[in-house]
Amino acid sequence: MSAPSQRVSVLRLGHRRERDKRITSHLGLTARAFGANEVILAGEEDESALDTWRSVSDRFGGDFECRYEPKPMALLRRFSQDAGDGHPGIIVHLTMYGESWRESLNSIERGRPMVIVVGGTKVSGEVFRLANHNISIGNQPHSEVAALGVFLESFIGPLDESKHFQGGEIQVVPSLDRKQVMSLGEE
Ligand code: SAM
Repeated sequence: MSAPSQRVSVLRLGHRRERDKRITSHLGLTARAFGANEVILAGEEDESALDTWRSVSDRFGGDFECRYEPKPMALLRRFSQDAGDGHPGIIVHLTMYGESWRESLNSIERGRPMVIVVGGTKVSGEVFRLANHNISIGNQPHSEVAALGVFLESFIGPLDESKHFQGGEIQVVPSLDRKQVMSLGEE
């Protein structure tokens, strides 16, 4: 498992408030559930997406962060040179035009801060050039949520949820035949 030793952020490009409401919300929840540390929203500013992600983290625990970024390309240019410690970060761009994730996974550097970029509308050529890895989850068009889930599961691997999602108000108790939730609030 690479998290939490490797900080993993997901950058959601080109969000459209009305059209992408649900899919962007699900993208952030998928990022959280599969072990990313942060989702960064770009495109149209949308407090409701940020509210959803914060509310799920408050209820279900963990240290997941989220924020809006008005200048995502500037962020990527900077990150490709300096991840905040004077050394380049790793940029992974999920795109159906990229190399197969099965073949590329072992060549992706571990231990450095990573930004995983997913698109919405058309992604600019500069993203392809800035990325250290343009990775496809199959070469057919599908969804940013599916692509992110498959990539994170294969790159980070199974999470120990009891360690990863500490704090919070409730915890799901896995059950064969019913919905069971444990309240973690103070007595
Ligand atoms: N190109 C379409 C458009 O302009 O509306 C939609 C792009 S697609 C629905 C949105 C994002 O899903 C892509 O930018 C990419 O990050 C991800 N995606 C879709 N299919 C993928 C695949 N086969 N492999 C990796 N990522 C994929």
